[in-house]
Amino acid sequence: MGKKYRVTCDLFTIPLQKNESLLYAPRVGFICEANEDVLSLLANIDEITSENINEKQKGVLDRLEKNGILNGSREKTIQKYNPRTFEPTRLTLFPTNQCNLRCIYCYASAGEHAEKAMEWQYAESAINTIVKNALKNHHKTISIGFHGGGEPLYRWKFIQQVADYAETQSRKNHLNLKLYAATNGLLNEQQLEWITGHFSDLNISFDGLPEVQDYHRPLPNREGSFKYLDRTFRFLDSKGFNYGIRSTFSNYNIDLMEDSYDFIMSHYKPKSIHFEPVFQCGRCKTSSDYDISLDKFALNFQRIEAKHNNKKIQFIYSGSRVETLTDSFCGVSRDSFTITPDGYITACFEITSPDDPKSEKFFYGRINGEGELIIDEKKRKYLQDITVDNLEYCKDCFAKWHCAGECVARLGHDDLHGERGHDRCILNRKMLKSKLITILKTNSKTPDYSTQHK
Ligand code: SF4
Ligand code: SF4
Repeated sequence: MGKKYRVTCDLFTIPLQKNESLLYAPRVGFICEANEDVLSLLANIDEITSENINEKQKGVLDRLEKNGILNGSREKTIQKYNPRTFEPTRLTLFPTNQCNLRCIYCYASAGEHAEKAMEWQYAESAINTIVKNALKNHHKTISIGFHGGGEPLYRWKFIQQVADYAETQSRKNHLNLKLYAATNGLLNEQQLEWITGHFSDLNISFDGLPEVQDYHRPLPNREGSFKYLDRTFRFLDSKGFNYGIRSTFSNYNIDLMEDSYDFIMSHYKPKSIHFEPVFQCGRCKTSSDYDISLDKFALNFQRIEAKHNNKKIQFIYSGSRVETLTDSFCGVSRDSFTITPDGYITACFEITSPDDPKSEKFFYGRINGEGELIIDEKKRKYLQDITVDNLEYCKDCFAKWHCAGECVARLGHDDLHGERGHDRCILNRKMLKSKLITILKTNSKTPDYSTQHK
């Protein structure tokens, strides 16, 4: 009868040139090159036994079996997140829609709208909620992030009040507390001193070079902001504090990507450098002035990646996280407990105002006048279901467990479970394919996978 073979893992073929392809099993961590004969062998695997193939073919299948591709694979499990009840222990607060910079591409057009400041009662109720959930579910840690529509740390007294209350509550209840923020970095030394004593990390927007920072991210009076950022980085470095840098590339600085990387690496000590192409919305939504060629972004990124050899600093683009296996691109499908200044609960960091038409899909609850949480369970379920295993479009995509269906706020349509195939989807596949080729060429081991989330 002979031995039978079957493919027992997620296995993808990625065309290279001529008759060659890559065989990639992301959840096993296996990559190899395969010619048409191997692909045809695999395509007909159901009809094959060890008795109706030749020795060479048997050798190929035995190798695949040994590497966990056939006949019982050791696939990494991707943990599903879908608790029946809403019990988050991580919280994000948007303290304000105001900002002390006027970035030309700002997604929130911060500073151009009537001021909204979060009332204390929303923050207090939200903190009480995560403490209660942590105690109920025996979690040891709660975390609170500050993010924005505007610059979150601009409301400095509010930030200190939140930190003070959260610290008191966590001490009283024997919980660990993690505080962090995404910030524009415009902070004075007193603020920085306080942050290093209370926060675990910061994510700082800095566009890579002094002249670009000054052009992209000026103060309201058009003064450049680089000198303030430089002071911030030097201060944090002197304290050995954990921070990441996030840089945005428009058509103004797309040809300066490598110079930006070199500048950051030679001047500062971030734990991560995150490069992203500009996304058309907010202040630049009516103009294509800042639009870039994603091909250029990909080429420049790959060139930098090839020379990046500092293992202590992560160099990242969000759509091609080869080290991460996940079913969710971000917290949208994981009960992201994010409170807007008006007390709404939004799943998305960029949908922060009820005036935004997208809030219809992304706002799934609110905190009422009595400080109670009102959750729209139908919307919550709709959002929870946006995991890559539920997305028909991504079903056969080799990038699915790394890209996880991309950012749903940037699809260009409002069916969040619907079609992909847009520019970022194409970019993600291109970037991931190139990374896999590099891994294969450099004979590196398979990526060291984690199941972290963005
Ligand atoms: S949907 Fe996109 S913009 Fe919104 S939080 Fe997720 S990654 Fe960010
Ligand atoms: S969005 Fe595109 S690249 Fe990402 S998993 Fe889906 S098909 Fe693949």
